[in-house]
Order: sequence, then structure tokens, then C-alpha cells
Amino acid sequence: MANRVLRDWTDSDRINNLSAAAEILLLRILMTVDVKGKIKCHPKLLSSRCFPLRTISDKKIIAWLKELSDNDLIEFNCDGKTISLVRTNIGRQRLCKSKWAVLVKEVFARDNYTCRYCGKYGGKLECDHIIAFSNGGTDDLTNLATACKRCNRLKGNLSVESFLTLKLKK
Ligand SMILES: [Zn+2]
Repeated sequence: MANRVLRDWTDSDRINNLSAAAEILLLRILMTVDVKGKIKCHPKLLSSRCFPLRTISDKKIIAWLKELSDNDLIEFNCDGKTISLVRTNIGRQRLCKSKWAVLVKEVFARDNYTCRYCGKYGGKLECDHIIAFSNGGTDDLTNLATACKRCNRLKGNLSVESFLTLKLKK
């Protein structure tokens, strides 16, 4: 029985939440993906690559993939015949609170405490990921913007274009 290697390497609730089988599948997926972090194959093929000595039903493989995706570790599509792994997210941890707080201060000061989307100065400000973190946006300063609470909540994970279109309609 393989041990729970990832759990020992990382300090992540997302990993700690996983069942042992899903964790092993994730580890083996990480060793199998192409350079872009993607896989496209039949569930049976994935099963034989990841668990060569066991016969595992497609249903189980898909249930474990779903578990990984529910924990935001991978994104995948399955049309019943082919699994496409869209992305593996394991390297993308949110910053810890103290590091994030330092970054937010820097962004607010850079933007002169003004919402980038509506121009409102001061008040309850938040730090927005211009490309949403859940869409692959980074914590780089160039991807961070000061936003008033109202704009940030309205924007959610929309792109700036979609958000501004939505805002015009409101
Ligand atoms: Zn605003």
C-alpha cells in the first residue's frame, strides 16, 4: 500500500481532506501529466497508468477525480469516454494571511486608496485579482488591483471586460 506522501510534503487542507485513494491518484497524475499539466485519455487508460497492478472501475476513477476537483486540486472534463485533465492546481496555494496583508497594503498605496473600477476614494477597500485566482490569475502585483467592496463583490471571478459590461447594465 502506498503511503500518503503528499500529505507529508504539503501543509494544505485541500490535501488533508482527501481520501487515501484520491491522494494516491493525484500523486500518480502529477507524475503522468504532460509538460502543460494535462492528460487526455480514456478512464481505463488512466486507471492502468496510475494503478498498474489493480483493476479499478471507470466509475471509481471518475469519483476520485471528482473528489480532487471538489478540493480545487485539478480541473477535469469527462464525456464518458475520455478524461481531459484541464489543469492541475496543486502548486497554487493561496498566500498565508500575513503575506497577503503585506501585499494588500502595497497595492492600496500604489493605487492611492482608489477603486480602479469606479474611481471611489477610500472607504472599505479590497484587493482584487484582475484575472481571478480561480481562473489561474497570480498574486503578482501586476495582477492585483484596489477595488471598493461593491465593485469587488460584483466582479467576482469575471474578466474585467465582462465585469465592466455588467456594471454598465446595472
Ligand atoms: Zn468601485
